[in-house]
Amino acid sequence: MFVLLFGPPGSGKGTQASALAERLGVPHVATGDIFRKHLREGTALGQLARSYMDRGQLVPDLVTCDLVASRLGENDAAGGVLFDGFPRSVPQLYWVLGHLGATGRSLAHVVNLQVDDRLILGRITGRRTCTNCGATYHVDSAPPDADGNCTRCGKPVVQRKDDTEEVVRDRLVAYAAQTFPCLEQLVGRVPVHNVDGVGSIEEVRVRIFSALGLQA
Ligand code: AMP
Repeated sequence: MFVLLFGPPGSGKGTQASALAERLGVPHVATGDIFRKHLREGTALGQLARSYMDRGQLVPDLVTCDLVASRLGENDAAGGVLFDGFPRSVPQLYWVLGHLGATGRSLAHVVNLQVDDRLILGRITGRRTCTNCGATYHVDSAPPDADGNCTRCGKPVVQRKDDTEEVVRDRLVAYAAQTFPCLEQLVGRVPVHNVDGVGSIEEVRVRIFSALGLQA
């Protein structure tokens, strides 16, 4: 089953994705995570992506779709994936619909996480991310351990370069201009479930599961 987790930066997509992917029995494909992995490994793709990510801009569609095409070509993705942070532009959306359609597959559901812009800024600027495993924390609501390290793997937890207020504002502009229009194109093509993304992680998880008819 191919499912798309949609929503602005900071709406909680990454936080909710692991449990949902596990429940659906499909891999979690987060283009942002894949770009950050390339960045850490210093690949050419990582260098290219960095110049866009640091400015809160989208990595070009061709580069992103190529990356997703190769991920979808892996064995574990044959029966479905949970997309997180992809597609993020109308060209990416039409590319993925065509790519899946060419092999008789389709998007089954879209979960649209809704969170007010004012909340988003606080959520993202307070967010901290493990440099090793990518686990996320929040300075107020879910801090790392007393030494500022990851409670999962013990490595340092830092603020992502693109989680500063200045860059977040640019990311929200990119979302409104390039990503949000995907929703209009999706409505009528794929069932879109609007889910209130404000609440505890558990509350939002239950709402998502129930929107998809899954037992919590
Ligand atoms: P995320 O971790 O999903 O917030 O993504 C972080 C950054 O990676 C974004 O601000 C973009 O610069 C880049 N990125 C992630 N996914 C995409 C995508 N589907 N298309 C273009 N750029 C992306």
